[in-house]
Amino acid sequence: MPKPFNGISIPLPNSTLVKRRYSVTQDVVSFRHCARQYGVFNVYKYAPAHQTQIYFGTVLHQVLDRCHAHFHGRVDPSTKGSLPDEGKVLSEEEIHEYFGELKSAQKAVTTLPPPPSDIVRYFIQVENGLNSQGILAIRSDTRVQAVNILQYFNALEGPTLYPRVTNTEHRLQADQSNHILHGVVDLLVDSTDEMVDPANCEMWDYKGSTRLGLNPKDLQTYEFQMRVYAYLYQRKHGVLPKKAVLYFLNELNGPTCPTKRPVNALLEVSIEPDEIQIAIDEFTKTVGQIEQSRLTDTWEPAAPGEISEQDCKTCDCRWDCKTPNSGKGVKRIYP
Ligand code: SF4
Repeated sequence: MPKPFNGISIPLPNSTLVKRRYSVTQDVVSFRHCARQYGVFNVYKYAPAHQTQIYFGTVLHQVLDRCHAHFHGRVDPSTKGSLPDEGKVLSEEEIHEYFGELKSAQKAVTTLPPPPSDIVRYFIQVENGLNSQGILAIRSDTRVQAVNILQYFNALEGPTLYPRVTNTEHRLQADQSNHILHGVVDLLVDSTDEMVDPANCEMWDYKGSTRLGLNPKDLQTYEFQMRVYAYLYQRKHGVLPKKAVLYFLNELNGPTCPTKRPVNALLEVSIEPDEIQIAIDEFTKTVGQIEQSRLTDTWEPAAPGEISEQDCKTCDCRWDCKTPNSGKGVKRIYP
């Protein structure tokens, strides 16, 4: 019987390189923070039992985004040029009282009380969205703290910052030969409201933490992050931004609204070309480490001292991790 396929050779198709997309913050910064936590929650996508850290940072970012939209009249043209709440600040008692009334009304399924301020209204809108994704504040104090910080930022920075904001959530990305790197800059700030000149723009990035409580390794990673953003910005606009600024929102926290910016709230990150190159090399190395971890399915925890005890305290992996408590681990509460 003749074999019909004898003598026929079909070449293998050229294997195409599929480039994975890496987010500057959600992949590279997270992996550098703790590879194990990254593997568990970002790669395996286990849902964290408590999402306090995500809650706090996200609520601050999203409400501030609404404050910028308010000032620029993007949702309601009648608010254009006005500060939310005209910069007024509610007391902690007033915020607690409103949250109490809201809770009672929700429980009794009656008409909800109207929010007492623009900031609280934006806060409730954002929080409802997060709650529907299972992201909740664990303690009621955390909610009041978040509203306070937002009010203080609005009153302190709003009058001079909002008019200078030319773009929020500014998307950047670059093809890095074997992967694609992308990121989102919180704010682009120009010195005028007229013709936007990319060389005259500052990049601002909000952080929900304090600067002083930050582990030195995390601070260095944040500086690298801004330098990598500067590189991506240059790839997009052809010029470097004028400045790269980190704003540590939790530095505003306190019983009263600061009358001037706390000294540690703002950090200008230098963006010299040689520093940018070091940051790019570091982040490219980290992407290589992520790929290697994926290949071997090995996700090592951060070494003791390289991560703050506070971060380990809120991590679901702490029961099975040697890093917390200076490398002694956490005593199990069962069996
Ligand atoms: S307990 Fe700390 S070191 Fe261990 S996985 Fe969690 S964050 Fe990482």
